[in-house]
Amino acid sequence: MQKPNVYLFPQLDDNYGYLIKNPHETKGVLVDPSDLDMCLKILELNDCSASHIIITHHHDDHISAVDEIKSRFKSLVIGYKNDSKIPKPDKEVEDQEIFEIHGNEYKVIHTPGHTLQHINYFMLKHNILFSGDTLFSIGCGRMFEGNPEVFWNSLSKLKQLPEDTKVYCGHEYTMANLKFALNIDPDNEKLNEYYKWASHQEKEHRPTIPTTLSDQLLCNPFLRCDTDQFMKFFDTQDATEVFAKMRSAKDNF
Ligand SMILES: [Zn+2]
Repeated sequence: MQKPNVYLFPQLDDNYGYLIKNPHETKGVLVDPSDLDMCLKILELNDCSASHIIITHHHDDHISAVDEIKSRFKSLVIGYKNDSKIPKPDKEVEDQEIFEIHGNEYKVIHTPGHTLQHINYFMLKHNILFSGDTLFSIGCGRMFEGNPEVFWNSLSKLKQLPEDTKVYCGHEYTMANLKFALNIDPDNEKLNEYYKWASHQEKEHRPTIPTTLSDQLLCNPFLRCDTDQFMKFFDTQDATEVFAKMRSAKDNF
């Protein structure tokens, strides 16, 4: 089967939305639409309608265009069954559920932490992850509703995905995340390389997304809370506590 195309587009200040579309199809899937004009532009550019919308979590900057898109295209909205603050989904999904759109299988991964009802969508067979505000490039979302235990547990689930997984997250925060990461992990060669690459992308006004899970496993400190290095750095033997300390250090950076 042909690989679906994923088109990234900017929304609002620093959000990313995505259009997933099989080659030669005239229907696509929008991920977290919040900027109506940008959504309409990407659909028009790719000559397609939004037959489906998938939602990661209830923050406005991920859902504010859902109703308008739905009324224009009669899109089927998909979201987590326990997230009462998203626009009412036509199809409510649960953790570990696998559903199909346009012949592509999506697996739901419940990832509480940023919000308690946050979910990720993992495209099986193609190893593509839509991580919303759970996992960012070289960082993770702010802990608005969860606690360190659930957030670290969510990140640990994502760490188990295939290493060649392409990660499409909800924001372009990579440069700010890199500055923090280099501050606590200055000798990480791969991280220094990543910084050079991302700086170049920024200079050329190009996105740093998607990233790959393999790069994140080497460079993203929030995926490395269980390493001896960070346990030593944060003076604890407990990965959850490392996560708590790292998250609060980043919040105050
Ligand atoms: Zn959010």
